[in-house]
Amino acid sequence: MGTAIRLDGKLTAAAVRAEVAERVRERTTDGRSVPGLAAVLIGENPASKVYVRNKRKACEEVGIQSWLIELPSETTQRELLDQIEELNSRPDVHGILVQLPLPHQIDEAAIIGAIDPTVDVDAFHPENLGRLMAGHPRFYPCTPYGCMELLRRNHIETTGREVVIVGRSNIVGKPLALMLMQKRTTANAAGGNATVTVAHTSTPDLAAVCRGAEILIAAVGSPRLITPDMVKPGAVVLDVGINSIEGKLVGDVHEDVANVASAISPVPGGIGPMTIAMLLQNTVRAAEMLDG
Ligand code: NDP
Repeated sequence: MGTAIRLDGKLTAAAVRAEVAERVRERTTDGRSVPGLAAVLIGENPASKVYVRNKRKACEEVGIQSWLIELPSETTQRELLDQIEELNSRPDVHGILVQLPLPHQIDEAAIIGAIDPTVDVDAFHPENLGRLMAGHPRFYPCTPYGCMELLRRNHIETTGREVVIVGRSNIVGKPLALMLMQKRTTANAAGGNATVTVAHTSTPDLAAVCRGAEILIAAVGSPRLITPDMVKPGAVVLDVGINSIEGKLVGDVHEDVANVASAISPVPGGIGPMTIAMLLQNTVRAAEMLDG
């Protein structure tokens, strides 16, 4: 890596996980419930299997119970809805995650909408997105939350900064823009207070927009799209992208950007581990909220 400081997601995620483990220990010592996460995996997508396995392993390490519900790829929407209904009614399940993408016969929006919003630890349910939009979040979506925490815990201030996000998906770009632009208050300590620009495929001069960023975040899914000429010298760069090229994982940011940026998150070992750590944090929070 070049001259940029490495924003080590593994190390930062380990700190988050240690805090989560302590919260789990405290509540179980007090006789409160052990937090529980149910993961639903449909079909044989190899990447999805790896993600779910990593999430369950992380649960185990911090003392969160987890269950894996594996369903065949020909599962119908009705069958999946019935499964979610059953999980919604279980008192030992504080978090439900349905690993995306879903097979074509299942409507993603219908499934996300069927998860009880109080156990929607991915925060994809319209109620949770609406609460985020309105500045009264219940949960923060895990990847955007991971980006915010990686910055905060590495003392990178977002207040007053020009931030450019490349990508506007519902799970990364859009909620991250909301979090970054949110006014920071006591009730909303994670508000980013930044000036935010969101770029996408209809942005005519992506390079020029990116060069305006003091903090540049790539959440695109296009290997090495962000090249050094697109980055303002000294900018902070977060690389959310995970792309597999000839069996190797690469991000959306070209490796040489490390010679221009002041700090950069690596792939792998950046936003990926942070995303999982925030899922654990959301699951404990869900259990705490259900305590009343
Ligand atoms: P989506 O495919 O849903 O969205 C990609 C976004 O990038 C779209 O808004 C699209 O624009 C935009 N885009 C694509 N190509 C270009 C381009 N050439 N120039 C400008 N904008 C472009 O992806 P996700 O948001 O789900 O994921 C993005 C990346 O992050 C992927 O690599 C994914 O694997 C990774 N990821 C990583 C996670 C982690 O834990 N680290 C978690 C989630 C995702 P438009 O809207 O115009 O089509």
